[in-house]
Amino acid sequence: MARNRDPKCRQCRREGEKLFLKGEKCFTDKCAFERRSYAPGQHGQNSGRRLSGYGQQLRAKQKIRRIYGVLENQFRRIYAEAERRKGQTGENLLQLLEGRLDSVAYRMGFGASRAEARQLVRHNGVLVNGKRVNIPSYLVRPGDVIELTERARKQLRVQAALKSAQERGFPEWVEVNVEEGKGVFKAYPMRSELSPTLNEQVVVELYSR
Ligand code: SF4
Repeated sequence: MARNRDPKCRQCRREGEKLFLKGEKCFTDKCAFERRSYAPGQHGQNSGRRLSGYGQQLRAKQKIRRIYGVLENQFRRIYAEAERRKGQTGENLLQLLEGRLDSVAYRMGFGASRAEARQLVRHNGVLVNGKRVNIPSYLVRPGDVIELTERARKQLRVQAALKSAQERGFPEWVEVNVEEGKGVFKAYPMRSELSPTLNEQVVVELYSR
């Protein structure tokens, strides 16, 4: 399966903010962005130039793609679906990204990062309404029950991820029973519940050019 192979911390530095792609490390002082918060590369420290409108749109899109770990073609397909649905395309886009099984598993704390949650899904570690689903892009619907398999529940890294997520607090749109390794996807998140630094409207402008 194709995936983005760019070093994760480099992606954060390119976007100029922490994207939390590496799990626990992102919350420690080992985070590369904490130490070098400028763009990577030879001219990274001098890259204070203003971006054109197109440049800003491109960066906004790349940032969202990187956070959700989605490649360009897949992102375009999700965007097309967001456009087809009723309501605001930008909000639909974020909801569709949040509704992906890897994203939901991450929000429920089954993985320390989306990449880890995705691997768990790929390796048959997650059930949706009691059935094994190993497709990270599977779209979860409100009311679906997402559960760890018995084998996954015993993995130490899954237990550690769940514990950390519980300590940080789960988002409003999921309800998680940590002891049972199980959760309900209550609803697609509202825009106000997601990070204000995502600029989905600019992505809509980019694709409407
Ligand atoms: Fe980004 Fe996490 Fe790396 Fe920090 S540790 S730069 S937040 S991926």
